[in-house]
Amino acid sequence: MWKEQKEFDCIVVGGGPAGSTFARVAAEGGLSVLLLEKDRDIGVPVRCAEAISDAGLRIFHEPNPRWIASKINRIKMVAPDETVVEFGLVETGYILDRRIFDYDLAQYAAQEGAQIVTKAYVDGLIIKDDKVAGVKGIHLGERFEKKAKIVVGADGVESRVGRWAGLQTHLKLKDMESGIQKTVAGIEVTENMFEFYLSKKWAPGGYLWVFPKGKNKANIGLGISGYYAKNGKAAHKFLDEFIHWKYPQASVLTTVVGGIPVGKTVKQMVADGLMLVGDAAHTCNPLTGGGITPGMRSGLLAAETAIKALQRGGPTRENLFSYEKEWHKIGGKNHERFYRIKESLYKLNDDDLNNIARTIVAIPEKNRTLMKLFSAAVREKPSLILDVARVFAGI
Ligand SMILES: Cc1cc2nc3c(=O)[nH]c(=O)nc-3n(C[C@H](O)[C@H](O)[C@H](O)COP(=O)(O)OP(=O)(O)OC[C@H]3O[C@@H](n4cnc5c(N)ncnc54)[C@H](O)[C@@H]3O)c2cc1C
Repeated sequence: MWKEQKEFDCIVVGGGPAGSTFARVAAEGGLSVLLLEKDRDIGVPVRCAEAISDAGLRIFHEPNPRWIASKINRIKMVAPDETVVEFGLVETGYILDRRIFDYDLAQYAAQEGAQIVTKAYVDGLIIKDDKVAGVKGIHLGERFEKKAKIVVGADGVESRVGRWAGLQTHLKLKDMESGIQKTVAGIEVTENMFEFYLSKKWAPGGYLWVFPKGKNKANIGLGISGYYAKNGKAAHKFLDEFIHWKYPQASVLTTVVGGIPVGKTVKQMVADGLMLVGDAAHTCNPLTGGGITPGMRSGLLAAETAIKALQRGGPTRENLFSYEKEWHKIGGKNHERFYRIKESLYKLNDDDLNNIARTIVAIPEKNRTLMKLFSAAVREKPSLILDVARVFAGI
């Protein structure tokens, strides 16, 4: 039992996809792992539009029908003047049910031997000789302290673990999107289609999505750049106006708000005795705000490094550094490219977006692709056309 055990190889703070993936892989590799989650249930509340690509999911798991609310193979983009661009997706996507998905990821970690505890709030680190040596917290009203060779900050967008250890985790205001989403029922949506609405009037410095969860239910949400959220109308006002206009009959089943880190990955992902994974390390795709797959990838890479570090030499920053290197090798370059593309796209005004939509609509549907769409959007900047080609080629 975790209460009796004083020390662990790894303590993971946070039971989202990044933390559970770390816990599973580390436990499978023979490490003793404790995962502490502050909420009552793993996976709740869901602060996510729940979209993931088939290819992204398959890196880690065979897609399980239990997790999938909708299978997506078409995309619809709506320009400010309501020009609609529609086409088929080369790659299948899914809208997950993250309550079930996150729960299962944590169960997989438990099956490998990780100990998982909910309602366990971590509120500080144990620091010894300038090194992270464990965590302090509170569980059901009782204070606890547990030592660990490695503490893993998987505590999401509002992460404090990195900051407590002295890492720079600050994000520029423009790189923190203010996200809000309502899961609504009693509406008609196309079950196999991602819908995106792009305009300063719908979601300035971001986009608005309608992601179906079956035929009559959808996640409708938006992310707006922190820059606009601070200076103007709040995100929830934009969303309410849209729902009132497009789906006046909608019944709201759930409302969630949350930040989406759309900046670059933190400069330093590790310190002596500490690793940051997932949103805590800003691994979200800066263009789409998609953080499930990159979060799981960072959890996997960090765990592989932790296993090696504890077998050879100990959890020093030098030994943990190969996680940071691997992250930049596997996902990091594309991350930087997506960041540059985002920076350029969010400068487009509504007229630019209307023109791009008209250019794409003129192409026969069978020849439309996401790559053509993005290439048209960045055509003023030849260096970005190369970035677009590379992210779609996966190089
Ligand atoms: C509105 C919105 C829509 C989104 N849509 C998508 C999408 O469609 N697709 C996609 O891929 N991504 C999406 N994202 C991003 C995605 O949700 C995150 O990137 C992803 O959940 C990150 O996983 P994580 O494990 O790093 O963090 P999280 O899933 O946030 O998990 C962190 C966990 O840490 C716990 N925790 C925090 N502090 C403590 C503490 N002190 N002690 C103990 N536990 C703690 C939290 O309770 C939480 O359970 C969206 C985000 C938002 C806000």
